[in-house]
Amino acid sequence: MLLNNKLFDDLVNAFRTLPGVGKKTAERYALHILSSTEEQVKEFVEIIFRIRKQIKRCSLCQDFSDTEPCAICASSDRDSNLLCIVEKPSGVMAIERSGGYRGKYYVLNGLLSPLDGVGPEELGLSRLFTRVNSNNVKEVIIATSATSEGEATALYIAHQLKPLGVKVTRIAHGVPMGAGLELTDDYTLRQAIEGRKSLY
Ligand SMILES: [Zn+2]
Repeated sequence: MLLNNKLFDDLVNAFRTLPGVGKKTAERYALHILSSTEEQVKEFVEIIFRIRKQIKRCSLCQDFSDTEPCAICASSDRDSNLLCIVEKPSGVMAIERSGGYRGKYYVLNGLLSPLDGVGPEELGLSRLFTRVNSNNVKEVIIATSATSEGEATALYIAHQLKPLGVKVTRIAHGVPMGAGLELTDDYTLRQAIEGRKSLY
């Protein structure tokens, strides 16, 4: 019986560090691992470790990629005048799936959150401003989530980009308040990009 077993609890707690995994699910995963052969577990762990080593952040857009730069940054078919700023790599995936965007991206990998000690420096925003400055970007589309932190980050970036003479827009229609891009359906997301509004 594994109830209150220290080793089993360690395994359960390891799974609980994954997003969206609660106690019950973590216990199911842990029991599944224990029911698997050692060989199966070894293979599973090796896949995670190998992929984690091979996929790094693209130095230009900060998205995950197994090439440097990533395929989108390297592509001459994509409009370099357009730069879409998203919060997380899942935002790039959502917009790409929606099929309505042919520009390039920049992934913030977070949002400004002064109360948690995340300021412009911690977020590495200077990299973004360098990118906009040196890549002939004409329009920046800010697609951060419709949360207070998402809005504050959008306004801060818009304010910083204003002196550079870059057009700054914000995706608008239909992205539900507080929702991430990954939870928005493709049609709504295409509409949101098309219906973007100027921030100043
Ligand atoms: Zn890239």
